[in-house]
Amino acid sequence: MSLLNLTIAGTAQALAAKKFSAVELTAAHNAAIAALNPRLNAYITTTPELALAQAQAADARITAGTAGPLTGIPLAIKDLFCTAGVRTTAASKILEPFVPPYESTVTRQLLEAGTICLGKANLDEFAMGSSNITSGYGPVENPWKRNGSDARLVPGGSSGGSAAAVAARLALGATGTDTGGSIRQPAAFTGLAGIKPTYGRCSRYGIVAFASSLDQAGPMARTVEDCAILLGAMSGFDPHDSTSAERAVPDFGAALGRGVKGLRIGIPAEYRMDGMSGEISALWEKGVAWLREQGAEIVDISLPHTKYGLAVYYIVAPAEASSNLARYDGVRFGARVDGEDLIDMYERTRAAGFGAEVKRRIMIGTYVLSHGYYDAYYLKAQKVRNLILRDFNNAFERVDAILTPTAPSAAFGLGEKMDDPVTMYLNDVFTVPASLAGVPAMSIPAGLSAEGLPLGLQVIGKHFDEETVFAVSAALERAAGFTAMPSVRAE
Ligand code: GLN
Repeated sequence: MSLLNLTIAGTAQALAAKKFSAVELTAAHNAAIAALNPRLNAYITTTPELALAQAQAADARITAGTAGPLTGIPLAIKDLFCTAGVRTTAASKILEPFVPPYESTVTRQLLEAGTICLGKANLDEFAMGSSNITSGYGPVENPWKRNGSDARLVPGGSSGGSAAAVAARLALGATGTDTGGSIRQPAAFTGLAGIKPTYGRCSRYGIVAFASSLDQAGPMARTVEDCAILLGAMSGFDPHDSTSAERAVPDFGAALGRGVKGLRIGIPAEYRMDGMSGEISALWEKGVAWLREQGAEIVDISLPHTKYGLAVYYIVAPAEASSNLARYDGVRFGARVDGEDLIDMYERTRAAGFGAEVKRRIMIGTYVLSHGYYDAYYLKAQKVRNLILRDFNNAFERVDAILTPTAPSAAFGLGEKMDDPVTMYLNDVFTVPASLAGVPAMSIPAGLSAEGLPLGLQVIGKHFDEETVFAVSAALERAAGFTAMPSVRAE
């Protein structure tokens, strides 16, 4: 039996039945990573010895009968989560030597649940991107290929390493973060499930900050059920994060079997973009039909301010980023390039440490926050953000969840969409509105493109109603019966 091709739920059963040990499972993953990571570049740092030590502890818990559903489960941790004693780079050269003395709350909770850290997954630098090409540690290759072609494709971003690792069977699940789509879009590009929970559901403590009013952690895995199991362990109130919500964590797994009978599912007119590919609209129609067949009522809705989503996001996110990234000054964290005086040292450090996309965002962010432009850009964007939130609140008076495509296309080639940054930003058109509104949204693999690449559908829910998101996603997953696997994978 291949130890690499099971789900998290299936692995937990096998571990409990002592079909194999957590050490055997971890050793198999370590070997698969050693063989495939040089090609895929899904991990920036691997931690094979740490993983084996954690696996020994997990086996002891399993033998003692104190194991939970995640005990002994090997994961990839996006290299944006601080891990005590393990280098955390945010895929930036400026953090190349940074070894955090503390653990993020999300990864601490996962460790307490008994999971195993296989390594730190690659990402776009500071999570800024949609293709993982802005990483200071090289791009990630998508393990999926177009039919009959060996061209290298992007895994999406920013959680591209997490996505590639799970899709290629180099981890059973992964943590991601999503600021404007960074869990959902790479999940869609690699045939995985991934959920961005409600803003405030998971603590941001110890996650390297990009845009604090948007950043949310969430799981990526091969099934909706696996995401529910992971999210349960990742969620919960944390006094270390002032925006963390004091809400009880529901049993997400219990929602999976609820079905969609009687649920009202909204189809937003504004997501039918001009020039949308026929393949994506056909997939969306299929999703509608699957839910209708299972007893849901389909309701046409309007989210009228959707068209401003990208413009608002690409003002708010860079503004917050420019402020958050001010801390990388060569003094407190990471790398330093000495200079003639203090200011010269700051400038040299930041010039050498940040990549082009990060510099672009810092400049845009500083500009929109500067005197004279603050009202015209930043304040205006905040007002429109509020209207986008109101659109969702109005819609959720009439419907229980919303169905849309996750991304406007399947995975594209490494080097494509690079002519200008705006082409890349357009990728986020379906994902940023839910981020701006802070509502939960999940991508599930729903089919293959004509070229044989995975396509995702997105389910958006009400604030703190991840349970309905899981119920609808599980129904879609059952109907889609997605079993395809990428051609590059460990066996
Ligand atoms: N692609 C978006 C961006 O570049 C979203 C990134 C994210 O969610 N972290 O900002």
